[in-house]
Amino acid sequence: MDITILDRQPNHRSPSAEGMPGYLTIDLGALARNYEKLAVAASPARAAAVVKADAYGLGAKQVAVKLYAHGCRHFFVAQFGEALHLRPCLPLDADIFVLNGLQPGNERACAEAGIVPVVNSLEQLHRWSAAANSLKGRLRAVLQFDTGMSRLGVPPEERLALANAVKDAGLIEILFIMSHLACADDVESAQNDAQLVEMSRIAAEFPDFDICVANSGGIFLGNAYHRALVRPGIALYGGAPTAGIRNPMEAVVRLDVAVVQTRCVPAGASVGYSGGHVTTAETRLATIAAGYADGLPRSLSGNGAVYCDGVRLPIVGRVSMDSITIDISALPEGRLKLGTLVEVLGPNQTLEDVARDAGTISYEILTGLGGRYDRRYV
Ligand SMILES: *Cc1c(COP(=O)(O)O)cnc(C)c1O
Repeated sequence: MDITILDRQPNHRSPSAEGMPGYLTIDLGALARNYEKLAVAASPARAAAVVKADAYGLGAKQVAVKLYAHGCRHFFVAQFGEALHLRPCLPLDADIFVLNGLQPGNERACAEAGIVPVVNSLEQLHRWSAAANSLKGRLRAVLQFDTGMSRLGVPPEERLALANAVKDAGLIEILFIMSHLACADDVESAQNDAQLVEMSRIAAEFPDFDICVANSGGIFLGNAYHRALVRPGIALYGGAPTAGIRNPMEAVVRLDVAVVQTRCVPAGASVGYSGGHVTTAETRLATIAAGYADGLPRSLSGNGAVYCDGVRLPIVGRVSMDSITIDISALPEGRLKLGTLVEVLGPNQTLEDVARDAGTISYEILTGLGGRYDRRYV
């Protein structure tokens, strides 16, 4: 990871917080480099960006504007409200697609805003086509097919009827067809190939449309998965696209949290809720100003760590809502003071490290990072 960029930021390495409990630093340069790396890997396919859930918690507006400047013209969100929020931030030659499809009643607003729904069923196509008829204008759509995830998309038994409905829906312009891979982060999974084979069958039933199947992991499954357009999310934000191999992406997020108190306790002291930890020796402790309400899961209790000067400082006892207690005995006395920042995510500890310690995935850690940090875009 390229930490030098962050290190050059004037405020970044400041040893103490300026009134804030924590700093979430989002490196838009690293984001853009990740995008370019993915775009090169997928070329000649085009690279979209998945910016749902506020760009995995990093700020959909900032992320989308940055990626637009680097050539991205396809943006996927999950919900219509997210698309409405993003639409004014992007020039009109950027398309915004709603992965979850439309809720009944949103068709007109969607059409008026120029947002493109992902049509996941025959019923949704009928509704979108009815909207086009009532507005007397052409409307664009993407068709999503279920190729084996049983989550979203047109099920196999609706395909024939859908093919006919597409022919009849003269005012609907299909931009491309898509599907989503269930196991793309696992290069060994036979389901990847099975889904690709199913997509080829669909492509034969819906000829002449461009195809889009790959998420972040899919890009690293090989050219066969790239097709016309790829849809990375997590890899843009520095998460590992493939499990079990070195993460080729650059870290985008750094999180530093302020110390709010330090103390020295004797052996036998009870630490945190439920006395979840009892010291076995005299121990120096610090309490930092973030907890599970700030997206550091309670499952990090007794599991995770934070860092200072490259030294690992284990989390002791339960993670509280607003604070976490750490064992700082490994640091020189006096190193941590009220307001000193410790590293939660950064050069010493990746997103994947924290996710592993918390028993979850990078996606959940990123999207959970709360609203109480001071966010800085660099
Ligand atoms: C979230 C999502 C993506 C992005 O997946 P990543 O694993 O984050 O790259 C792509 N396509 C669909 C349909 C999604 O729901």
